[in-house]
Amino acid sequence: MGVCLDLSQFPLRPTTALIDLDAIEQNVRIVARSLTPGTKLIAVVKGNGYGHGATMVAETATRAGASHLAVATVGEGRHLREEGVESPIIVLGPTHRREHELAVGLGLELGVGDVASIESIAHAATMLDRVAKVHLKIDTGMHRFGADPSDAVELARAIDRTPSLSLAGIFTHFADADAADERSATNQADIFDRVIAEIKADGIDIPLVDEANSAATLRSRRYDYGAIRLGISMYGIPASSSVPLLPGMKAAMTIESTIARLFDLKKGERVSYGGTYEALRDERAALIPIGYADGYRRALSNRGWVSAGDALLPVRGRVCMDQTVVGVPDDADLSVGSRVVVMSNGEGESPSAIELADMLDTIPYEIVTGISARVPRVYFRGSDVVAIEDLAGLSRFR
Ligand SMILES: *Cc1c(COP(=O)(O)O)cnc(C)c1O
Repeated sequence: MGVCLDLSQFPLRPTTALIDLDAIEQNVRIVARSLTPGTKLIAVVKGNGYGHGATMVAETATRAGASHLAVATVGEGRHLREEGVESPIIVLGPTHRREHELAVGLGLELGVGDVASIESIAHAATMLDRVAKVHLKIDTGMHRFGADPSDAVELARAIDRTPSLSLAGIFTHFADADAADERSATNQADIFDRVIAEIKADGIDIPLVDEANSAATLRSRRYDYGAIRLGISMYGIPASSSVPLLPGMKAAMTIESTIARLFDLKKGERVSYGGTYEALRDERAALIPIGYADGYRRALSNRGWVSAGDALLPVRGRVCMDQTVVGVPDDADLSVGSRVVVMSNGEGESPSAIELADMLDTIPYEIVTGISARVPRVYFRGSDVVAIEDLAGLSRFR
């Protein structure tokens, strides 16, 4: 049931997210091996590395062979640069003109989908006397961010003839690559093929062409182009039940805490705000120092459970901002300080991110990205703690 790390020497709060860097490294290597030879791997570390901590994930993915990193915002890219990450970083999402000088100064590569942002980035690059790399985003059917396919050649030309810009790549994004039915994805890929062919026919060189997210990558080599963008499955979580992980891939995050108080509830006593749980008989309860400000969602009130060894401890009453009360089975041999697993990596008795998502009518992406910065990330390889990141910042130990 997971590793047993010795955290006694670290001044950490009892609630921690344990991040298995070996799992992340292995997941990247397994996916990289499955790609068409020569295909580059862009590690997507937006949303604080899907809640796993962007810096350590970025380093680990790079070591495992990722050539580029991708984030959603300039702020996320800046954070990685400030932590010393030197890989190419692509900002996938739309940016604001007021961010462009900062972004270009940091050497971030920006996704663009319209003339106004191309001009603004060109202006920032000219001011800084630099050449900014941009990636033209094509909207092939997601209908979110990107240029209409009919405008693609014109925009590629505009970038190509601007001295302060360099067209580093062209990309698009799938709306439905994780669905049981692959047709929506193949339709988008057909549109993307035509756009790429038109731009190439215009004599414009495109260093990087990428389309696939995790689902498309795990599904078929049809979507490899020159690179793929690997997000959720790098963390060992499948994009959906229609697209299983490859053999050997494994979830990297486990959330643990310890019992802070063990107490008795008498029949008729009620628990937590609003008293929504009432003891039907004399019973035992335990306090776990985790709450919705940590990302342990309030909708788990009277629904979720944690585990301690083989014992299942159901949530009693409302999840609070910082604390949650759970029931303790009569026969469980627990004491203050006993370790509890709040979210498992799929092994053991506690719900995994997938099971929590099912319970909460959402997707595991939202569960892991929702684990807040207040929860220390403890990074380990084998049974060694190699780094810790908490509100005070990142500390490496080897
Ligand atoms: C988040 C994101 C990805 C990664 O998607 P996963 O499903 O997590 O692999 C890839 N491309 C873009 C544009 C994204 O926003």
